[in-house]
Amino acid sequence: MRVVCLSGGVGGAKLAAGLHDVLAPGELTVIGNVGDDLEILGLHVSPDLDSVLYTLAGLNDTERGWGREGETWEALESARSWGGEGWFMLGDRDIGLHLVRSQALRRGETLSGVTGRLIRSAGLKTRLLPATDDRLRTQLVTPAGTFPFQEWFVARRHEDEVDALRYDGADVSRPAPGVIGAIEDADAIVIAPSNPFVSIHPILSVPGIREAIERRRVRCVAVSPLIGGHAVRGPVDRMMRRLLGGTTPALVTMCYKGLLDALVIDAADETAETDGAVVVTDTLMLDRESARRLAQTTLEAAMETPS
Ligand code: GDP
Ligand code: CA
Repeated sequence: MRVVCLSGGVGGAKLAAGLHDVLAPGELTVIGNVGDDLEILGLHVSPDLDSVLYTLAGLNDTERGWGREGETWEALESARSWGGEGWFMLGDRDIGLHLVRSQALRRGETLSGVTGRLIRSAGLKTRLLPATDDRLRTQLVTPAGTFPFQEWFVARRHEDEVDALRYDGADVSRPAPGVIGAIEDADAIVIAPSNPFVSIHPILSVPGIREAIERRRVRCVAVSPLIGGHAVRGPVDRMMRRLLGGTTPALVTMCYKGLLDALVIDAADETAETDGAVVVTDTLMLDRESARRLAQTTLEAAMETPS
């Protein structure tokens, strides 16, 4: 069974890891967000792709919730002491990966090419494809001005309310090699419980990707990032309230208009307003086992024959 999963960073990576575990080797393709990418200290950083890579490989720090386990911060401290930019958290182990990627890109390799090499170096059979090899950058329009994603999220601690989003470069971007084929060949499409605005919409803004999902002849199922109307982590609930006026499952479905055959929601949202088919389960992924359970339920919802 071939499955495509659209994913952002940490939240998406947890479900992707569950899918990776319950599917046979090579059956999963993850399409990752690059709208959060940044160039800093001469390095090209792809935080969402790396969250997926680290989580699939079991290298992620589950306590901090992002980055690598056993991380140290010597290089960043040194860079700061030399007057370098120090606001974006880069651990020593993490930097090793960014060095390899940055060198490859500088030599003319594509982001999808180097990402493929990295995932194979980790011994993984799952495919991880950036949505595009082209430059696509999410910008947040706020009352205090317009900021690139990481400046808003990290430097300004996502305190500014978001009035609109822009995906700069999306209109002229092309899907990375393999992305459209993977969607067309999939037996099921899954949208991870990632932030719709800053993780999934940037992927869908690459011309051709949304259209390929709209043309599907298989089911597409999303997992809601909300539990009891609240984000498990991050600003999705605040963004939904400001941009859509609430945090119900119906509004999550609205984020993916025309793309969903079912939405997987948490039992805590069962009584809230829904729109279309929903599957109710426990969606909190506390560990790899609960991620596998949610992945299994999501796949079952994706394989159901529509009534
Ligand atoms: P980021 O790119 O690292 O910010 O991560 P994502 O966009 O992929 O995921 C962030 C979203 O995942 C947040 O909106 C969280 O509410 C959601 N999330 C995180 N963990 C869980 C979980 O265990 N269950 C569910 N349902 N959602 C989760
Ligand atoms: Ca992200």
